[in-house]
Amino acid sequence: MKHRGNDPSGEESFREFPGIESIHQRELRLLALYAMHSDQSRGRKHPEPDHPFRSAFQRDRDRVLHCGAFRRLSDKTQVFSARSDYQRTRLTHTMEVASIARTLGRSLRLNEDLIEALALLHDIGHPPFGHAGEDALAECLADEGGFSHNDYALTVVEQIEQRYARFPGLNLTLEVLDSQSTRIHKAEPARAPLLEAQVVEAADSTTYNAHDLDDAVKIGLVSLDELLDIPLVADCVRRVTNRFGVLSAGMLRKAVVHELIDHQVRDVLHTSLSGLATFQFANSDQARQSDFRIGPTPGLAREKAALEAFLYRRVYRHPEISRFRGQAQQMLRRMFDRLVARPKLMPDFFQQHAENVGVKQAVAHYLAGMTDGYCRRQSGKILGSASGG
Ligand code: MG
Repeated sequence: MKHRGNDPSGEESFREFPGIESIHQRELRLLALYAMHSDQSRGRKHPEPDHPFRSAFQRDRDRVLHCGAFRRLSDKTQVFSARSDYQRTRLTHTMEVASIARTLGRSLRLNEDLIEALALLHDIGHPPFGHAGEDALAECLADEGGFSHNDYALTVVEQIEQRYARFPGLNLTLEVLDSQSTRIHKAEPARAPLLEAQVVEAADSTTYNAHDLDDAVKIGLVSLDELLDIPLVADCVRRVTNRFGVLSAGMLRKAVVHELIDHQVRDVLHTSLSGLATFQFANSDQARQSDFRIGPTPGLAREKAALEAFLYRRVYRHPEISRFRGQAQQMLRRMFDRLVARPKLMPDFFQQHAENVGVKQAVAHYLAGMTDGYCRRQSGKILGSASGG
């Protein structure tokens, strides 16, 4: 699987650009021993020569960034359907996760390129209409093991994307593929995630706690006053008020969201730095296989759970969100049934894909790749053709 041939350090490639510090030298200078260094990568399924001035993980990041599935995140629901241009989409959520994960990763001297690749990839398998869409597809595939956006992300980057002449998919490094699969098999010790993957996980929950609160209050589904029952939010409001005095409602909401992110990132950094100093890992594998995990302190984890329970009860199950969920799920279920009965209504690629993975899987893969808008537009065509038999 090694892709470097006779140049294990990657130094050879840099002879073409003598003014540039090699990736190997740069990472030795900046990264900790426990980071995943690019020259320790196990390579790609389809061997490729090194790039002259990008590390293996920089290329992974760029491959994800440039693929069609990534761009389609711009019209995929995060939690709230498009009722204004304020709330997060799956794309802006992803960018926020990448930003926070890189901040954590740089402070912990981890591989930021790998972190960014993992962050940009982490939600690429989300179907249209957020978790409502995922639940509908899981129901449609109930007799085939269900549907998971984490699993589908791997299908996207290994089978669905066709961007390179010499191989199917994006041919990402095994570290990126393995890290994504640790999101699926969280309980399996053999799949222990790299520290870079742990950082993305911590950044994901930090991000959605803060932005779901922000969007829900801005849209008016809950008020900041109601959120004062949650100690994590009440503490943020108190600190912000002590610092700035009385603020307008809008500025208070923004300051609280800022404080909520900052507080969580500081907590994760404090506990992670002291853990890493204690363990003194000599390489990324040692760190991965140990009991050490990057994440919040137990106290913050409990407070976050209380906020998430509130968001679940009062926001994700809000009647307005539930109505949107119901409509979206009904549409997806009807489209699924129709396409299973008439696979020829799918594009050629997915008709061929059905020969490899079966019709139901191929239909789910086709639907999961759609944006919210494209799915709505296609529903008219696909369901409208029902009378054709
Ligand atoms: Mg996410």
